[in-house]
Formats: sequence, structure tokens, C-alpha cells
Amino acid sequence: MDKEYKNLVLGCQNCKKDFAIETDDFSFYEKVGVFPPDICPLCRAQLRLSFRNERVFYKRQCDKCKKDVVSMYSPNKPFVVYCYDCWFADDWGGEDFALDYSSDRPFLEQFEELLKKVPKVALISMRSPGSEYTNISADNKNCYMIVESSNNENSINSYWIQECRDVVDTSFASKCELTYESDDCYNSYQLLYSKSCHDCSTSYFMTNCRGCTDCIGCINLINKSHYIFNEQYTREEYEKIKTELNLDTYKGVENLRNKYKEFISNKPRKFAETLKTLNSNGNYMKNVKNCQSCFHCYDSEDNKYGVHIWRNAKNTMDCDTAGRNVSLIYNSINAGIDNSNIICGAVCWTCSFVDYCMYCFNSNNLFGCVGLRKKNYFILNKQYSKEEFKVISEKIKNELKENKNYGNFFPKNLSCFGYNETPANEQFPLSKEEAIKKGFGWEDTDRGTYNKGTIKFDDIPISIKETNLDIIKEIFVCESCNKNFKVIQDEFLFYKKLNVPLPRLCPECRHNKRIQLRGPNKLWHRKCMHEGCNNEFETSYSPDRPEIIYCERCYQQEVY
Ligand SMILES: [Zn+2]
Ligand SMILES: [Zn+2]
Ligand SMILES: [Zn+2]
Ligand SMILES: [Zn+2]
Repeated sequence: MDKEYKNLVLGCQNCKKDFAIETDDFSFYEKVGVFPPDICPLCRAQLRLSFRNERVFYKRQCDKCKKDVVSMYSPNKPFVVYCYDCWFADDWGGEDFALDYSSDRPFLEQFEELLKKVPKVALISMRSPGSEYTNISADNKNCYMIVESSNNENSINSYWIQECRDVVDTSFASKCELTYESDDCYNSYQLLYSKSCHDCSTSYFMTNCRGCTDCIGCINLINKSHYIFNEQYTREEYEKIKTELNLDTYKGVENLRNKYKEFISNKPRKFAETLKTLNSNGNYMKNVKNCQSCFHCYDSEDNKYGVHIWRNAKNTMDCDTAGRNVSLIYNSINAGIDNSNIICGAVCWTCSFVDYCMYCFNSNNLFGCVGLRKKNYFILNKQYSKEEFKVISEKIKNELKENKNYGNFFPKNLSCFGYNETPANEQFPLSKEEAIKKGFGWEDTDRGTYNKGTIKFDDIPISIKETNLDIIKEIFVCESCNKNFKVIQDEFLFYKKLNVPLPRLCPECRHNKRIQLRGPNKLWHRKCMHEGCNNEFETSYSPDRPEIIYCERCYQQEVY
């Protein structure tokens, strides 16, 4: 690449805002051989995310065995959809839909044709016994409605959890057990209603604490026990107050929630949730090195413009979800489980040397393929010799390079989902009109039911201890969106075990509440708010947020 390209500022071809391509960006583009992007990092992220439906599910039929299944594809989508067992069966393969590459037509047009023909899998729950209703997930056991998660057991209604056991309503957690309604927690046991805690146990309503045990309503504490609202109590006093809080009742929890919200409102926060980070910026990071503009990133190094970059991801750029020993991944979504050398991949796992592919597994040397398993040297789902593969894939690369397209993610219209079904709408909310105007799809199919409630919350005993329902028969009504929802048996047993009152919001509203609390995956340049400190930093707290934001040094002085 020419030296003159260094630290170039360009206008984004999409949002028209200026963005910088930095020197190390160019070295990465050079290494993987792609064109520098012509849209800014946020527009790139929005486009990628619009290709992933994580948790908007529908009932439809498997087009092979005709069983009713839960699927991320609404019944009106123009695709053939198989249930998990049918899709991963050996009696068919994506290669049955092979196309001959023709240099007379644009490659992406041919890819689109293939994409429409190859059957889709209803939900992706790899190697996950007893976990039928999990998606974009692998290696889970007895889990229900968990998404983007690996190596968990007995966990329910959770998002982005890794190596957890018995957690409910938890997001972005790793190595947690018996955790409830918590976000961004690591290595913790029996932690409830908490955020950004590490190594904590048997505690409620905790924020930014480390190594705390038996605490309630604390913030910014390290290695403390029997603290309530950041004050020390004896064990006996602590137990007495805890009992009086009635945390086994809905009222008790909500009272404490409100008091806690008030208590932490004037406590300083660190500019970013980071622990053991070196030469990195972003938010929600732990044990990372050389990670720039990364959000939710742990045990990883040398990554840039990434979200969910974790468990030994190295050398990735522009990825949304890359983890479990992956390297050299560019502009991809869900590049997991021993992937390497991927350019523009969507949900390809255990693959290497893959360009412009979707839903391929355990395969190498693929270009423009969809839904292949255990294949090598395939283009548009057709088998070639190693030599032919090289010649034709170079031809396609050249075509894309001529149009300055090589390295750009798939065009918007190739997404299998409506914008409102994807996390793009969480990070970059658009109305239906705006989305369509921008060229995204939209899904109008209704989900869920109303007016079918069998029980009112006021008719349930106030303590979960006395609540003895035949839970699988009951239908609840969400207090926020009025949709019906159910509580499954294992979830009910979890609430009983932890003395947690039944939730009054549907799982969807519970998820949305946690996501909103995390803030956006964006950075603002701001100043430390401690008097007399002039330190500056990149933070996800936008300038109009009410929180008091400190730099690392000032924050450390505040932590007990
Ligand atoms: Zn832009
Ligand atoms: Zn089937
Ligand atoms: Zn709801
Ligand atoms: Zn400061």
C-alpha cells in the first residue's frame, strides 16, 4: 500500500461523516489483501449486524420432516428451512445446489442466487443436548432461550454467556454460577441484580465490585464482606437487615432497586469497564492487549473495531463476534471456534481460508459458499481441484477488486432478515420507513399473543417461598408490553432455590432493559470530571449522560 495513505481521513460513503483510516488499519488491509473500506466503522457495524437474527423467533414447519419448529426465519420468508436435525443430517448438503461460476455475471449476483436456494437451519445450536431453543450457540447442555453463548449448563433466558451454570436472565457473563438478572459479570457465584462485578458471591445489587461476599447494594468495593450500601456491618446485623429487606417478594426487590439507584447516582464511575487491559480502548474489556475500539472483549489481543471479541481471538478487524481461538478474521459476523483467515464471513465456524460465505461449518478453502459442511476447495458450492480453486477464486477477487468491493461486506439486500429482527436495530434504531429508505428489509410478522393470561400477579402469594403453582399451566401478562409469557419449570425451580420473586416482565422486555443499561457501542472523547484533573479518555458515556465519570487514576482513589 502507498505510504501516502497513512492516517487518511475520508468521508463515509454512507453517512457522509468523516472517518480516519489509521496506519495500522492499512497494515491489516495489506496483510489480508483487501481494499480499505469506504464507509465508517459504525456504518460497517450496522451493515454487519443487519445480517444476524439472534433472538426473534417464530413457529413454522421444517420443510423436510414437516415437524413444527422454532425458527429465526418467519414463515413468510422465501427460504427452505430445515430443523436442526434435518439440516445437519447426512442425506443432503449445500453442494446439492452448486452453481457454475460465470465470469459474465457479477459474482455477488450469483452468490445471491445460491443464497436463496440453499436450505437454512431453523436455529443454530451446535452440539447442545437438551437445548433445542438456543440460537447461534454451541456446546451447551440443558439450556433454554440462550443466544450467542457457548459451553453453558442449565441456563435460561440469557444472552452472551460463556462457561456459566445455572444462570437466568443474565447477559455478557463468563464463568458465573447461580447468577440472576446481572450483566457483565465474571467468575461469580450467586450474584443477583448486579453489573460489572468480578469474583463476587452471594450478593445483591452490586456495581463495579471485586472479590466481595455477602454484600447488598454496594458500588466500587474491593474484597469486602457484610457491607450494605457501602457500609460495614457485623454478620448478625447483616443477616437481620437482609431478612427485613424481603428479597423473596417483588415489593422488597423493587424497593431495594429504587433505593440502590438513588444511592449510586452520585457515585463516580470509571470511564470504561476495564480490567487488566494494555494499550486498548473501548468498553467492557478484561485481560486484553492492543484492542482498539472494541466492546465486550476479553482474553484477546490485536483486535480493532470489534464487538464480542473473546476467548483467544487474535488479529481481527471489523468483527461482530469472534471467539474461541480465531485469528485473521476481517469484516465478519459470528466467526467462532478455531476459525482463521476469514474475509466477509457470516456464521462460519471451524473454517479457514474462507471468503464471502454464510453458514459454513468445518470447511476450508471456500469462496462464495452457503451452508456447506466438511468441504474443501468449493466455489459457489461447487467442488474444484486445488489448482482450479486458485484460478477461479483469483478471478472473482479481481472482479471484486476492479469494483473496489473486495473486503466490503455483503450488500444490504442479501440479508435474510428484516432490520427489526436484528441487533442492528438495538445499536442503530430506525423506524420502518427509515430502514426501507436506507435499503434494509423489514419484517411485519407478529409474534407472541395477548389477552391469554391465566393468572394475575396480585393473586400470587407475596413470597416466592409460598408460591406453589403448576407453573407450566400458567400464562402471565408482561407489565410493560402486555404480551403473554410463560415461566418454564426449571426457571421456576431456580427462582424458588434463590428466593427470587417471579418476574413481571416478559423475557424480551427483561433483555431490552439490560441492553439499554449497557450503553451504546460507541466512544466519545471526554475529560475526567474529578476536580483539578485534566486527564482525557475515550468513553461510552455520551456527554449528556448524568453519571460522574473519572479517569483510571481518579477512580482508583475512590475505590475502597
Ligand atoms: Zn458512516
Ligand atoms: Zn426436520
Ligand atoms: Zn414485555
Ligand atoms: Zn482524573
